[in-house]
Amino acid sequence: MNDAASDGIERASTQHFEVLVVGAGISGVGSAYHLKTQAPDRSFKVLEAQDSFGGTWWTHKYPGVRSDSDLHTFGYRFKPWRGVPIATGEEILAYMAEVIEENDLGRYIQYSTKILNARWSSPDGLWFVDAERSDTGQIEHYTTRFLWMCQGYYRHSKGYTPTWPGMERFKGPILHPQTWPQDVDYAGKRVVVIGSGATAATLIPALATEAAHVTMLQRTPTYFSTGRNKSDLAESLRELEIDESWIHEIVRRRTLRDGAAYIRRALDEPELVREEILDAVRSQLPEGYDVEKHFAPSYLPWRQRVAFIPNGDMFKAISAGKASVATDEIATFTETGIELKSGEHLDADVIVTATGFDLNVMGDIEFVVDNEPLDFSEVVTYRGMMFTGVPNLVWVFGYFRASWTLRADLIGDFVPRLLDYMDQHDYRRVAPALRPEDGDMPLGPWVDPESFNPGYLARGMHLMPKSGAKREWRHTQDYWSEKDEFPEIALDDPAFQYA
Ligand SMILES: Cc1cc2nc3c(=O)[nH]c(=O)nc-3n(C[C@H](O)[C@H](O)[C@H](O)COP(=O)(O)OP(=O)(O)OC[C@H]3O[C@@H](n4cnc5c(N)ncnc54)[C@H](O)[C@@H]3O)c2cc1C
Repeated sequence: MNDAASDGIERASTQHFEVLVVGAGISGVGSAYHLKTQAPDRSFKVLEAQDSFGGTWWTHKYPGVRSDSDLHTFGYRFKPWRGVPIATGEEILAYMAEVIEENDLGRYIQYSTKILNARWSSPDGLWFVDAERSDTGQIEHYTTRFLWMCQGYYRHSKGYTPTWPGMERFKGPILHPQTWPQDVDYAGKRVVVIGSGATAATLIPALATEAAHVTMLQRTPTYFSTGRNKSDLAESLRELEIDESWIHEIVRRRTLRDGAAYIRRALDEPELVREEILDAVRSQLPEGYDVEKHFAPSYLPWRQRVAFIPNGDMFKAISAGKASVATDEIATFTETGIELKSGEHLDADVIVTATGFDLNVMGDIEFVVDNEPLDFSEVVTYRGMMFTGVPNLVWVFGYFRASWTLRADLIGDFVPRLLDYMDQHDYRRVAPALRPEDGDMPLGPWVDPESFNPGYLARGMHLMPKSGAKREWRHTQDYWSEKDEFPEIALDDPAFQYA
């Protein structure tokens, strides 16, 4: 089949789907489920660049990889989670495999297919999409009415590693957790992990089981909360032979209620919460351990995600002398390790740079709208999911202070509703636009750095869409309000421009 589009380009074997979902991570698989169940008559396809589903959980294969939020909320609302709250990467993949299998979603997902560009044509009312197959090298062509962007927020091919002086001198391997080689041998070796986030905290106890010693080298500390990796409520309900779907819903509601209360306290009484967090850490470490130096950040709790340490495993490794923390700055790498600005030398056989992600906006896809290149840093977001002047496109960007998937489910209800509304009114195009009353609204960055400021966002914020002062024009990061607001979004609001 040859199709001639209004831009005059002949396309061989163009496949058409009403909706194209980009990415088969937790968001993309969830979106496929919502399309299949809430829009069963619409054709759709999920295109995924990697060779399997999972996204984050497929990419990250470093020792100990696990969630840092609980799976009763990181799991979908429609699929009960039966395990302990904090799950390993493998367990999350197994859960997603069940979702795909039970809902026969596999036939909608095409792997090894990276979308390269997407061009919107108003005369056609369609996106024209080119994708490259990594297995055959072929370029495939698609048209679609609607792009459902589930490509995450960071580049999967490689992580972020800063450049430090003397890196080339170091004789051992320098590894990034995002591209962890499966054959690396660290048994009996001295490992230095640079970084202090959730990834470093996960790696340290996992590496410490085999390594001679693991040192976490951090410039500044991070908040860690700790507790048992167990839900007493779920276990009691299970003993009472309550149906798993009820257990999921009940535990989920309690987790969300407790999470909301905790965040409210962290924002209202930050100093008190800070002391509570530090006291809990202190109780896990040997007498006299310098908690202030190594575990007391200069920022207030919840400006960055508070990483959860299940069963205190990192603190146990430190208490057992298998791991330690150095809070200092790197002067230079040496042949045998890292020299710190204090003059101390950390001897290392292996260095791991747990230094985070490279933020990327829209999966490195080149976007064009009616022959004009689209720069996402110049548009304003509608509720962190649509963008001014960008037709028929939604992005699933989850929550920082709550589980990502909660938002994937909310948007999963919104898109089918929007598509139905457009059909009822015979509209082919929808794009948000600032209303007359929004004209003098101050615009700011995607996320207010005063409210949330992890490194990967700070590095990439200039690439992200802008937000406005009013709720409709920002990603509020507030699941607890959005769960009520999203179903009520008025589709005839002038913020939506239809054609
Ligand atoms: C180690 C780790 C632990 C985390 N733990 C938690 C947690 O406990 N709770 C939480 O809420 N969040 C957590 N996060 C954040 C996490 O990334 C998100 O919660 C969530 O997994 C993102 O899912 P996603 O499907 O939106 O995106 P991703 O998981 O990033 O998946 C996107 C998919 O899209 C594909 N893709 C991208 N571009 C293209 C393209 N151009 N063409 C085709 N396919 C493309 C990618 O290959 C990828 O498979 C964690 C992140 C990491 C790295």
